[in-house]
Amino acid sequence: ENEWTVLLPAEIHPAGPESIADIATTVSRDEYETREQLLADADRFDAVITRIEPIDREFIDEASRLRIIAKHGVGYDNIDIDAATENGVLVSNTPGVNSCAVAEHAITLLLAVRRELLRADRAVRAGRGDGYEVVTDEFGTDTVGLYGYGDIGSEVASLCSGLGMDCLVYDPYVDGSELSNYATNVDTTATLFERSDAVSVHAPLTAETRRDISRRELELLSPSGILINTARAEIVDRNALVSSLETGSIAGVGLDVFADGPPSQDHPLFEYENVVLTPHIGAQTTDALTQMSVESATDVRSAYDG
Ligand code: NAD
Repeated sequence: ENEWTVLLPAEIHPAGPESIADIATTVSRDEYETREQLLADADRFDAVITRIEPIDREFIDEASRLRIIAKHGVGYDNIDIDAATENGVLVSNTPGVNSCAVAEHAITLLLAVRRELLRADRAVRAGRGDGYEVVTDEFGTDTVGLYGYGDIGSEVASLCSGLGMDCLVYDPYVDGSELSNYATNVDTTATLFERSDAVSVHAPLTAETRRDISRRELELLSPSGILINTARAEIVDRNALVSSLETGSIAGVGLDVFADGPPSQDHPLFEYENVVLTPHIGAQTTDALTQMSVESATDVRSAYDG
């Protein structure tokens, strides 16, 4: 009778739902054909476990029984926090459990772009003998600028140090004393971009970070500079990014995140050779998916227990 009903807007690893099977039944979003049908039934749910699917005000207002929105992951920019707060709905996330996965992915993108891996792969597949044209720089001499030094950014710094790269950090909420000894603090985005060979983005999407990386910053990167974004697309001004590639004012880009879901075939970034794109898979390792599922389910149990 006092069992909870938990909405899953997207499938998650079964370990989490199984761990709360004694107190909760999960319902897949797929059981509803339309958004209207889901909204009409919204007052059935005590909890939601969401990945990146939007949980907006309209749903929260309709969901009169809702007690918790558990984010499976870290960045909760897909959740209307104001609406949740006004309705007394808790919002939780699963900090730290995906930081190794995402940090490794950021480094993978950086190395692939620096050594032009995909261009070389395409040459082999096309049977072209132009391997000699793929002359790159070594990443071991790079200084990597980290925009954001939380769980993921600090993990990237430690991986960089293992690969011989130096790190600079721009994070207004972290002071120099909190940095590991292989990272150096800078005070402005301008300094970060001016002094780095590659910049990797690891901040949340907030009013402050939205389009904070603009034409001005990108122009300060050197022509051999690289931008890696595994955080949120909206932090970087996309038009500015495309025009930096067009004018050759940066050398390459690696992206795991896109503003409106997967990019369409006419996405302007597809025109450039040294761009590596992945479909938001930074946290998609078996370990991270299992842990995010279990942790978000544990958050639901805590809310259930009060
Ligand atoms: P975190 O909260 O541990 O760290 C975020 C850091 O960003 C903090 O140190 C914070 O002080 C800093 N920051 C805040 N505002 C800033 C600003 N204006 N400029 C620079 N730094 C700023 O979070 P995390 O676990 O490191 O994750 C970072 C982001 O990565 C998440 O918010 C999420 O959007 C994204 N993410 C992406 C994936 C993926 O699959 N690609 C997976 C997990 C997280």
